[in-house]
Amino acid sequence: MSSGCLYVLCAPSGTGKSTLVKRLIGEFPGVRFSISHTTRAPREGEEHGRDYFFTDKAEFLRLVEQGHFAEWAEVHGNCYGTPLSFTRELAAKGFDVLFDIDVQGARQLKASLPEACFVMLLPPSRQVLEERLRGRATDSEETIRKRLRNARGELETAGMFDHWIVNDDLDAAYDRLRAVYMARKLTPAADPGLVERLLHGWPREENG
Ligand code: ADP
Ligand code: 5GP
Repeated sequence: MSSGCLYVLCAPSGTGKSTLVKRLIGEFPGVRFSISHTTRAPREGEEHGRDYFFTDKAEFLRLVEQGHFAEWAEVHGNCYGTPLSFTRELAAKGFDVLFDIDVQGARQLKASLPEACFVMLLPPSRQVLEERLRGRATDSEETIRKRLRNARGELETAGMFDHWIVNDDLDAAYDRLRAVYMARKLTPAADPGLVERLLHGWPREENG
């Protein structure tokens, strides 16, 4: 059995990453979301164990010490971390795993999981990003300002990603994300044993 492909998705907060990730997971049953731990408070509608594992700071630091995370970082004033064992189990079962993490986390995973596909989603402009953050209506004014301030530094790391997808029109952006997902599934690395299986029992012919 082949193990699944890994996809790391980054974007400044408010770009539309969660929206696009939900769509991809909705279309492809073989794709699973890597559920992170966070010390941030749940937003309305978010569920523990589905969107995040909501964890207090003391517990988070204990998990860091125990080596529980493949990567972790402080983002916009809260801690976020990717649990290692959970991800490994999913990939070993053949699921494709999507990581929705920040650029500091992406840098760490680039070192430990170089085989992953690194995708950056870009907002069409600063103004649109601000409108989306405000339109989402889930964060305080202070939080929105902090996230907008951090966006510039996040965009400046775009050079380390394999793909850039501008989220202007949602359907068009989804088509691009879908194309990146499919293209990765069609590389030899996605199923290294495929040709060997194809040739199993295939007789060797004489030349000519
Ligand atoms: P992120 O996960 O990157 O922080 P969200 O997926 O929560 O961002 O999207 C932020 C807001 O922008 C949400 O209200 C979402 O419905 C909206 N949104 C996402 N993509 C688009 C798009 N292409 N056009 C218009 N609105 C969008
Ligand atoms: P939000 O609070 O809007 O859900 O997420 C804020 C930022 O934290 C986003 O950029 C998101 O991708 C990032 N994030 C979520 N989970 C993780 C994680 O496990 N590790 C890291 N490094 N960043 C994460």
